[in-house]
Amino acid sequence: MIADQKVVSLNFTVKDGQGQVVDSSEGGSPLVYLHGQKNIMPGLEAALTGKAPGDEFAVTIEPAEGYGEYNEDSLQVVPRAAFQGVEKIELGMMFTAQTPNGPVQLVVAKIEDDNITVDPNHPLAGKTLNFTGSVIDVRDATEEELAHGHVHGEGGHHH
Ligand code: ZN
Repeated sequence: MIADQKVVSLNFTVKDGQGQVVDSSEGGSPLVYLHGQKNIMPGLEAALTGKAPGDEFAVTIEPAEGYGEYNEDSLQVVPRAAFQGVEKIELGMMFTAQTPNGPVQLVVAKIEDDNITVDPNHPLAGKTLNFTGSVIDVRDATEEELAHGHVHGEGGHHH
């Protein structure tokens, strides 16, 4: 049964409020994570607690429980000169900016002459996410995995 300190493998599909698939393990590898360590969204983690291999799940995660509300105030206008080494700046381009709080992923949201508006919101911010899927496997975490706070081996960290 899924509980803290268990390693969980699952298949999942995530759709937004409009029914568009935004992420899925289908055609790829299952998601493997260490339960109880905030490695996945808190709302999803809570809904999976107590499930067993073979169990299916369907969970709706509101923005506050997922990637947060979309914050329009966090948009920033930066001069084109800040994009040194980028030949052509286009809408939707993603950049990683170094900030005092660590690296932040930015998307180009608007281009007006030399003023580039960048959006630091997560692409899924403000979206209600509907997760469906099934639990494939649940096992005990190793001492080492617990010490590191993440999964090793298949689907996990290799180091
Ligand atoms: Zn590790």
